[in-house]
Amino acid sequence: MVDAGTVYLVASGALLLVALGVGARVLLAIFREGRERSRKRREGEIDRFTEDPVYDRDPPDPDADGSRPSTCPHCGAENASGFTFCRECAGPLGPNG
Ligand SMILES: [Zn+2]
Repeated sequence: MVDAGTVYLVASGALLLVALGVGARVLLAIFREGRERSRKRREGEIDRFTEDPVYDRDPPDPDADGSRPSTCPHCGAENASGFTFCRECAGPLGPNG
């Protein structure tokens, strides 16, 4: 006669194996789906970067508002108007450039 402890052990072991099998299958499906999705997303990004007309648009004209980019007196780097310090050497951009 098999005692209750052994039955419990076998039953829980079988349940554990079933759960592991189902869980592994679900995890595998999730993993495959995620990989497929990331691959599609990568292709989508490539399409967006090559086909979106926004990326072919010219940058806005810096002189459109009447101000000019100022050249740094220390390193000669060109800085957009409105900045007080050079973006290259962080030196002060005088009022005359
Ligand atoms: Zn500078």
